[in-house]
Amino acid sequence: MYITKAYSAAGSTSPLVPDTIPRRETTAHDVAIEILYCGICHSDLHTVRNEWSSVMPTVYPVVPGHEIVGRVSGVGSAVTGFRPGDLVGVGCLVDSDHDCPSCNHHVEQFCRNATFTYNSPDKHGTAPVTYGGYSERIVVDERFVLRVPPHLDPAGVAPLLCAGITTYSPIKRWGDIKGKKVGVVGLGGLGHMGVKFARAFGAHVAVFTTSPQKMADALRLGADAVIVSTDKAQMKAHAGSFDFILDTIAADHDINAYLGMLGLDGELTLVGAPETPLQVSAFALIFGRKRLSGSLIGGIKETQEMLDFCGAHDITADVEVIPIQRVNEAYERLVRSDVKYRFSIDMASLKAG
Ligand code: NAP
Ligand code: ZN
Repeated sequence: MYITKAYSAAGSTSPLVPDTIPRRETTAHDVAIEILYCGICHSDLHTVRNEWSSVMPTVYPVVPGHEIVGRVSGVGSAVTGFRPGDLVGVGCLVDSDHDCPSCNHHVEQFCRNATFTYNSPDKHGTAPVTYGGYSERIVVDERFVLRVPPHLDPAGVAPLLCAGITTYSPIKRWGDIKGKKVGVVGLGGLGHMGVKFARAFGAHVAVFTTSPQKMADALRLGADAVIVSTDKAQMKAHAGSFDFILDTIAADHDINAYLGMLGLDGELTLVGAPETPLQVSAFALIFGRKRLSGSLIGGIKETQEMLDFCGAHDITADVEVIPIQRVNEAYERLVRSDVKYRFSIDMASLKAG
C-alpha cells in the first residue's frame, strides 16, 4: 500500500478539499496509472452531495471521478495487454465477478458484484470504499483498463469514459438510426456527446435545451435543429415527430412533455438520473404505443469499441480544462447548467498543489 494525493469531500455539504488516500501495490493482474486528466460528471456531484442516498448512499470521505485518462506507470507480473508508457482510460467500473450472465454478455455494469470506480466496497480492502480519479494515481485490474487512441487529445478523451459510452451505447442499441429523427434532451456533458454520436451515425439530430444561449453551440456540435423546451410553440411544432429521444437531464423535469415529442412506436431512453422520481403519465405512453427505457454506461467491450470509433472519427468531448483547485466552482456551474461542455481536470495541478 502507498499514499497518493487526492481531493475528497467529508460530507454531503462539504467542499472538495486536498487529501491523501491509500492505493494498493500492483498485484499480478493490475495496471498502475498516473492520472493525466479526469472529467467531472454530474454523477460525481450527485454522489458528493448524497443526492442518490436512497439507492446508493455515499460513504465519506468520497473521492469522485470516473472519467480517467492516464499513462501506465507499472504492470503486474501477469499483465499482457499493457506496458509502461501506454495511454489508457478507466471509466465507471473497476471490477466485476466475471462469472454471471451480465459479465458473460459483456454488460459488466449490470453485474450484481460490479465494483464501481468510487463509492463501492473495496474488494482489496485497501480502504472501506473505492476512490476515484480526482487523484494522482490509480491501480486497476487490467480487464477494466481501456486503450486510448494515442492521437486524440487526452483532456477531451477523459469524458468519453462516462459521458461518451453512456450516450454511445443506447444510440447503438436502438438500431439503425441513420436518417431517423433523434432528440437529445439537455446540452451538458452527456448531451453534447449524444449529439456528436447521433450525428456520426447519420441521424437527423435535434437538441432540446432550456438554455437558448446554447443554440449556436448545439448547431456547431452537429445538431440539425434546436428546440427551446420552455417555448410552447417550438415544442408544439415538433410534437409526435421523433423516432428516438435520449433524455440526459440531471434534475426533476416533466418527462411527459418529451414523450409527447415521440411518434408512433417511438422510444425515450433515460440516462439522466435526477434525485427525485419522475411522474410519468400513462396516457403519454399508451397513445402512440411509446416505450420508455433506461440505460447505464456500457460494458468494457463496448467502451473499447466506442473509443476506437472516436479514434477513427476524431471524436472527443469539448472540454474546459481546469486545475483541481477550481473543482468546487465547477460544481456550482454544473448546477446552473453552465458547462461547455465538460470540465476536465488537469491532474498536473494536483501534483503541483
Ligand atoms: P450536465 O453536464 O450537468 O448536463 C445536464 C444538462 O441537463 C444541463 O446542461 C441542462 O441542459 C439540462 N438541465 C439541467 N437541469 C435541468 C432542468 N431542471 N430542466 C431541464 N433541463 C435541465 O450533466 P451530465 O454530466 O451530462 O449528466 C446528466 C445526468 O446523467 C446526471 O443526472 C448524471 O448523474 C446522469 N448520468 C447517468 C449515467 C448513466 O449511465 N445512465 C452516466 C453518467 C451520468 P440545457 O442547458 O441544455 O437545458
Ligand atoms: Zn459519469
